[in-house]
Amino acid sequence: MRGNYPKLLFLIVLMTLSGCDRNPSDHQQTLLVFGTLLDIKAYTDNPTEFDSAVRSLDLTFQEMHREWHAWKGDGELVRLNRAIADGRPLEVSPDLAGLLRQAKHYSDKSDQLFNPAIGQLIGLWGFHSDEPPGGPPPDPTIIKSLLEGAPSMDDLHFKGDWVSSVNATVSIDLGAFAKGYALNLAIEQLKRFGIGHAIVNAGGDLCASGQHGDRPWKIGIRHPLGEGVIASVEVSDGECVLTSGNYERYREYQGIRYAHILDPRSGYPVEHVASATVISQEGGLADAAATALSVAGPKRWQDIAVQLGVSEVMLVDENGDVYLTPKMQSRIKFQQKIDKVVVSPQLKTQNQALKAR
Ligand code: ADP
Ligand code: MG
Repeated sequence: MRGNYPKLLFLIVLMTLSGCDRNPSDHQQTLLVFGTLLDIKAYTDNPTEFDSAVRSLDLTFQEMHREWHAWKGDGELVRLNRAIADGRPLEVSPDLAGLLRQAKHYSDKSDQLFNPAIGQLIGLWGFHSDEPPGGPPPDPTIIKSLLEGAPSMDDLHFKGDWVSSVNATVSIDLGAFAKGYALNLAIEQLKRFGIGHAIVNAGGDLCASGQHGDRPWKIGIRHPLGEGVIASVEVSDGECVLTSGNYERYREYQGIRYAHILDPRSGYPVEHVASATVISQEGGLADAAATALSVAGPKRWQDIAVQLGVSEVMLVDENGDVYLTPKMQSRIKFQQKIDKVVVSPQLKTQNQALKAR
C-alpha cells in the first residue's frame, strides 16, 4: 500500500500542474464580439486550457470584427470598399481574399439572392448603424438608381490576393456570411487548444464539436414569431446551425416592419419569411444559404437549396407555417404546436438535381 503514495502524489501534482479536473464537466464563458454575445460552452477536464482558448478566441474575433466590418473603422473591408468606389485594385489578406471567393461562389449558386455586393442598398435602408433605423423607408427613386448599378459578386476579380471590381457601385457587406464562417474557425481554434467538445453560439447561430459527455449536444432554435424554442435538434461533431431571422433587426415606421434582409432584385426587404434555418458542416454556407432562402421565400426555397447543396432546412413563414426538407424533418423535435408543417417533396428532385450536376 505504502508504495502507492508517491505515485498518487505524482498524479495529483501532475493534474494540478496541467490544470486538469478529475472528470470532464461543463465550462462556459461569454465574449462580446461582432456586436453580439458569443457564448462558448465546453465539456472538458481542462479548464485552464479552456481559459487560454477563450482568450485567444477573443483576440481572433476582435480582429475579424475590425477587419471585416463593412462600414465602421478602417479595417480591410472598409478599405476595399473605398478602393472599389475609386476604381482601384487593392491587395487584401489571404484570409479576406478566401472569404470573398467563397462568398462569390455561394452568391452564384443562390442566383444572387445572397448578394453581399449590395452594401450601398443595405446602408440606404439604414442597416449600417448599431441603432435600429427609424423614419420612412428610403426614396424609391434612390432604390431604383442603386438597382440600376446592378452590383454583384461577379463584378469582383481576383489576381492572387489583389481584388478589383469592374463596377464601382459594388460595396461588400459580409453581415449575412462572416458569422457562420467565423464560427467554423472558432471550433477549429478551440480544437488546437485541445478543446474538442464545444459549442460556440452567437445569438442562436452556432457550430459544435464533439459531444456533451456520452450524448450529442442538443440545442434549441428560437421561435421567430412567438416565445421560446420552436424546435430542438441534436448536433454532431462539426455541424453548424445558422438562422436568418427577420425578427431581431428591422426598421419600423407607421406600424410596418421593414426587415434587415433585402431582396437584391427589388431593393426591398423580404416580406413573407420570418426565419430560415440551415444545418451544414460549413458555417459560411449555412449562413449564406439561410439568407438566400429567406429571400427565395416559401415558393422558391427548394430550388435554391438544391443549387447550394444544402439538404437540412427549416423555413418559418409570416403566418408561422413551417416548411422542412425531409432530412430536417427526420431530426428536429418541435417544442410547440405547429398548425401547418409542409415537408418538401423535394428529396427526389434534389437527388436528381445533385446527380445531374
Ligand atoms: P441574421 O443577422 O439574422 O443572422 P443574415 O445572416 O441574413 O441574418 O444577415 C443579415 C445581414 O446581411 C443584413 O443585416 C445585411 O447586412 C446583410 N444582407 C441583407 N440582405 C442581404 C442579401 N440579400 N444578401 C447578402 N447580404 C444581405
Ligand atoms: Mg446569413
